[in-house]
Amino acid sequence: MKAKVNPDICIGCTLCVSTCPEVFRMEDDKAVAFVDKVPAKLYELCRRAADECPVAAIEIIEG
Ligand code: SF4
Repeated sequence: MKAKVNPDICIGCTLCVSTCPEVFRMEDDKAVAFVDKVPAKLYELCRRAADECPVAAIEIIEG
């Protein structure tokens, strides 16, 4: 699994960083997914972060 934040959509609310700091961090005022591949043990949290993003800026790429 990979995760990507669309910087044109992200509003910098920091929610994904709170939910899954092992994958997301803030860079300036936007979140980024800083891991190349999401470890399997973090799939659930990472999906939750994507689901909870208020502007649906997080894309999950399965596989
Ligand atoms: S939850 Fe969505 S809007 Fe908020 S920082 Fe993360 S990607 Fe950006």
